[in-house]
Amino acid sequence: MTDSYAVIGNPVEHSLSPEIHAEFARVTGQDISYGRILAPRDGFRDSVLRFRDEAGGKGLNVTLPFKHEAWRLAGTRSGFALAAGAVNTLVFQGDAIIGHNTDGIGLVRDLTRNLRVPLRGKRILLMGAGGASYGVVEPLLREQPESLVVANRTLEKAIALVGHFEKLQSYAAQGIAARPYGALAGVQFDIVINATSAGLENAMPPLPDGAFAPGALAYDMVYAKRTPFLKFAQERGARASDGLGMLVEQAAESFFIWRGVYPETRSAMALLRRRMKQ
Ligand code: NAP
Repeated sequence: MTDSYAVIGNPVEHSLSPEIHAEFARVTGQDISYGRILAPRDGFRDSVLRFRDEAGGKGLNVTLPFKHEAWRLAGTRSGFALAAGAVNTLVFQGDAIIGHNTDGIGLVRDLTRNLRVPLRGKRILLMGAGGASYGVVEPLLREQPESLVVANRTLEKAIALVGHFEKLQSYAAQGIAARPYGALAGVQFDIVINATSAGLENAMPPLPDGAFAPGALAYDMVYAKRTPFLKFAQERGARASDGLGMLVEQAAESFFIWRGVYPETRSAMALLRRRMKQ
């Protein structure tokens, strides 16, 4: 029997997850269907339970604005979801709802495997202190960078994020610090990750000119467009990547959690790149 999955969000029609999971199902031979669920802003829980109980759904991907609500709904939070405070993957096992966060794993896999940039010993700047940043801090720290600086337009949020992860004893949190953008002048980084949504509105955070060390990588979590940040980075000699690889890799981890099979991701990546050129 075909097992049903879906992505739930509001809005959700833009989501590329159905295409990605259809490609994963094709390459692995798994018999699944994968749709989109538009949940009312005040109706997340009901929509999840309806999908599970009435449509026989086996699991969900969760996108904006419900990742925090999904964390609260999950009776068990697994792996990185625990500290992230956000869940992007739900698994239904009988009456139990298990929550995972695969965003950070997706980012680290894209950086280390696809882009071949090891993180150990590197100076990393993470711009933004929203849900996406919370999801990636612990997986980044696990790779043992030399330092992880978090900068945010609203500094208090960066301080709160760093305080949250400093409480974790499991990873070397000593290299993590919050800084205002103004304090970054004269400081260089090997990897600069833009986890802000600025690119969506054709803006970029106020990053000082000299932030890129020689050979640095600039990574924008926003995908499907050349953001002002990526343009800025390339003009200053940095290597630049959008966040499409992260999107595909986090989906692959969700697929693995649900199906126990890890899909190869190159064909889904190529498929989306082709689609975006059209
Ligand atoms: P969010 O919770 O709304 O946080 C947005 C962040 O962006 C905040 O830190 C905000 O700063 C900052 N920001 C917004 N506009 C800015 C500007 N003009 N200048 C400087 N900072 C600005 O959003 P999120 O969930 O963290 O997501 C962030 C981005 O990551 C989104 O574009 C999302 O699509 C992308 N994302 C991609 C993937 C992927 O798989 N590729 C996965 C997850 C997220 P303040 O705190 O000062 O408002």
